[in-house]
Amino acid sequence: MSPLAAALAATHAWFEVNSGWAPPDVETMADWAVEGACRAPDDCWVSLRGTCPHGLVSWQVVLDDLVELDGGRSPGVRAG
Ligand SMILES: [Zn+2]
Repeated sequence: MSPLAAALAATHAWFEVNSGWAPPDVETMADWAVEGACRAPDDCWVSLRGTCPHGLVSWQVVLDDLVELDGGRSPGVRAG
């Protein structure tokens, strides 16, 4: 398992024991991406696809992974 995959697994474990988190909206994420930055789910500032000092990945990594799991379909695009 790559370090990033391990951190992603740690992040999903964190989701299970923490409540009250929500992904930032797309526009906010885009603003951060311009700076090459992102937040981790515990509010740490991290690089766009980095990990925070607590071992959590950035929201960008989490959301990228969800898109992959979804079969590569674009979020928000409905059939029909
Ligand atoms: Zn952190």
